[in-house]
Amino acid sequence: SACPTPHIATGDLVRDELASTGPDAVQLKEIVNQGKLVSDEIIINLLSKRLKKGEEKGESGFILDGFPRTVNQAEILDGVTDIDMVVNLKLREDIIVQKCLGRRICGQCGKNFNLACIDVKAENGLPPIYMSPLLPPNNCMSKLLTRDDDTEEVVRNRLRIYNEMSQPVEDFYQKQGKVLEFDLPGGIPESWPKLLDVLNLEDQQEMKLAAA
Ligand SMILES: [Zn+2]
Repeated sequence: SACPTPHIATGDLVRDELASTGPDAVQLKEIVNQGKLVSDEIIINLLSKRLKKGEEKGESGFILDGFPRTVNQAEILDGVTDIDMVVNLKLREDIIVQKCLGRRICGQCGKNFNLACIDVKAENGLPPIYMSPLLPPNNCMSKLLTRDDDTEEVVRNRLRIYNEMSQPVEDFYQKQGKVLEFDLPGGIPESWPKLLDVLNLEDQQEMKLAAA
């Protein structure tokens, strides 16, 4: 009877809506075509439509990815649905920077790769971190390009802005006692199943231990 818990990313909701037909899609296309920012209200609207559809299908929960990004969004979201838990995925900044600097795109086929191989040994009681590179096949190797804005300065600046924006959201949920800190021990492919395991546990205390 268990319906799999859907993973909902708001970027996907916007893309799906743009690909659909209907009065809301027309309005959204206009906004996007004019290069305007999609408002919090529109995103919450799409999200609440999606959650309602899920409820009708028998979904008992959901995982929101990358949302809310601002306190305003978090406040509106509280009026739409109940959030049980907020997972703060944590990764050392020097590793995020290395990963961003390792990004390459194939100039011919457009596929994305990552040349950075992260291999940090365990030290001072901290677990080791290993993230394998995502290497291109031989025929892409000689056509790899680096995006102009993947420089250390730009990446560090993006991270600083992200941290400044996300801190108030973290505080908002800390006050509600809903934040679970989750250190990423490896890349997303290794960490995601581990995270889902953790979320399926009933006991709060066990979750903290499992994440540690
Ligand atoms: Zn290629």
